[in-house]
Amino acid sequence: MDLGLSGKVAVVVASSRGLGRAAAEELAAEGARVVICARGAEALEETRAAITATGGEIVAVPVDTSNPDDLESLITVAETSFGPVDILVTNGGGPSPGTFDEVDDAAWDAAVAGTLSSVVRLCRRVLPGMREKGSGRIINITSIAVKQPVDGLILSNAVRAAVTGFARTLANEVASQGITVNNVMPGFTWTERVDELADKQAAFAEATRDEVIAGWKAAIPAARLGEPNELAALIAFLASSRAAYITGQSIPVDGGWIRSLV
Ligand code: NAD
Repeated sequence: MDLGLSGKVAVVVASSRGLGRAAAEELAAEGARVVICARGAEALEETRAAITATGGEIVAVPVDTSNPDDLESLITVAETSFGPVDILVTNGGGPSPGTFDEVDDAAWDAAVAGTLSSVVRLCRRVLPGMREKGSGRIINITSIAVKQPVDGLILSNAVRAAVTGFARTLANEVASQGITVNNVMPGFTWTERVDELADKQAAFAEATRDEVIAGWKAAIPAARLGEPNELAALIAFLASSRAAYITGQSIPVDGGWIRSLV
């Protein structure tokens, strides 16, 4: 299937590794010109070089998603390097884990700044260019926690729900202008973050790493964790003209983990 992404300008947030990197790789493989960003300059440069080596046109910008000035310069660099942004993929490191009693006001503020405010600011910054073109794609990487909250992740469960409410409302406001807004909801997917999480949970539960991973798999009908490129394939499709009539949706890529009917 030709997704028609050749020459499109894509910004993928938090993309030096993991799901963001996989999305950047997939969009570059489809011919998009991609701007990647993250905080750590070294990992970012390694990713830029790796995607460039596959023939991708990539620019890398050091960015902290909780810093509004960084977000502004991210989009400015994208525009000066490649032109107005056609595709925005929002993502981030994710709020810190914890129960209600474990997270304080500072953690709540950080979760809102990094996970909600960054999405709002980036959308505000790219929408004028998309409106002028009469087309655009905004895709937010959220989580299965939006449909089925995960115990011990109160910040993620609450703030990603806010992102989802924002996205659904924005989708309605911009749909007639040729712009779609959707969310992809990863389930347990093998990234460095999840690899680290397995070790942390094993230490916390006094279990082995294999026991922790077996516990995750037991809750997934597909009986395995996802691969980052399986989420990235959906992102590329939603970014394409083929997906022009899909908007305001949250789509899981979770091997069946969410048990609800709709
Ligand atoms: P990861 O840790 O492997 O990658 C996160 C990326 O974000 C890295 O490139 C990192 O440098 C960057 N980053 C972190 N904090 C940043 C900041 N403040 N500013 C800019 N960049 C920053 O994580 P991942 O597994 O790819 O997860 C990505 C997102 O998806 C997270 O929000 C995570 O909670 C969510 N998620 C992941 C899974 C999963 O199973 N992997 C499942 C559900 C939701």
